[in-house]
Order: sequence, then C-alpha cells, then structure tokens
Amino acid sequence: MALENCPSCGKAHSSLSGSIPVSMPTEAAKLPLEQRGERLWSNGELCVIDDERFYLYGSIEILIHEHSESFLWGAWVEITEEKFFWYQDLLDAEGRENHPSFEAILATDIPFYPLTIGLPLAVYIRPNGQRPLFRLQAGSHPLILDQHEGVPVKRVEEFRTWFLSLQRPAARVQGKLLQDVSQASKR
Ligand SMILES: [Zn+2]
Repeated sequence: MALENCPSCGKAHSSLSGSIPVSMPTEAAKLPLEQRGERLWSNGELCVIDDERFYLYGSIEILIHEHSESFLWGAWVEITEEKFFWYQDLLDAEGRENHPSFEAILATDIPFYPLTIGLPLAVYIRPNGQRPLFRLQAGSHPLILDQHEGVPVKRVEEFRTWFLSLQRPAARVQGKLLQDVSQASKR
C-alpha cells in the first residue's frame, strides 16, 4: 500500500478515516454459539437478547488532531425497549435526524481502553442511511477524554494496525468473532 503525503499534515501516512466494525454487543458475543439461534436476534443495526435487552449500532467519533477527518469506533449501545421500537419505526423515515438525542449506555468493550461497557452517552440520530453517532457524557475515562480532546495521528495508526492484524487468517481460526478477539488487545 503506497503512502501519500497527507494534505492536512504533509506527512506520509495511511488513510485515517473510516470505522472499525463490531459485529454484536459484547454481551451477545458471550453467548455460547449453540444458544445464539434461540436467544439472539440481530440485523447488524439492531440487536435483541432474550427479548429483554435491546441494542443499537452506531459510531463513536474521535477527532484526529490537525486533520479534518475523524476516526470511528463501531459500537453497540443498550437502549430501552420503548426506544428500540421507536427507533425501528424511524429507520426509513425522512427527517429523522431532527429528533432530539436520547440517552443510552455503551454495550461494546472498546479495545485499547479500560472497560468501556456502561459508559453513559447520548445517541444522535442521523439522516436515513447513516448510522447514529454516540457522544459520551463528560468524565475522566480515557475513551471520554479521547472523544472530547481528539487523538494524534499516531494513535489512529495503532488502532488501524491492530485491526488489520485481525484480518489475517490466523486471527480468525475457529470462526472467532471480532468481539472475542478484541479482548486480546487488553492483555
Ligand atoms: Zn495527515
């Protein structure tokens, strides 16, 4: 992959924008494979466990210092049943981004950080076809600080290098899910 000089900082580095996807909430990834058919429902944007826990997929946007692009962590948040069905009805609605933001709890354990599950945030609905953005509430957790203050290019390159390493066949033996593998980066 050829590196081109970046128009923002003038240095040679790989593309910074885009997102690192996550297939399901961490709680869902813990379910034994043989139970998932019965207990788990997901269409990639919405997910339900046992008809009683409700999740929504979106992105945590991290600004990159000196750059106009941002980096996105794909993430799941847990929402109330009421909000879940309300959002489902909005999926194809025009102007849905005009609805006010609402509260949710992070349900993905983001790699590179101390435990991130349970962090409170606001969900911002975006226009039809775009995933919601999650804005973490103020606090001292390193992920919150990164979202509020942005990160240097070097940090984003670490995230991307880690993600690319997961794409190698050796990292996918036995059909391991990204969510399971992501725990490895914390050790
Ligand atoms: Zn740059």
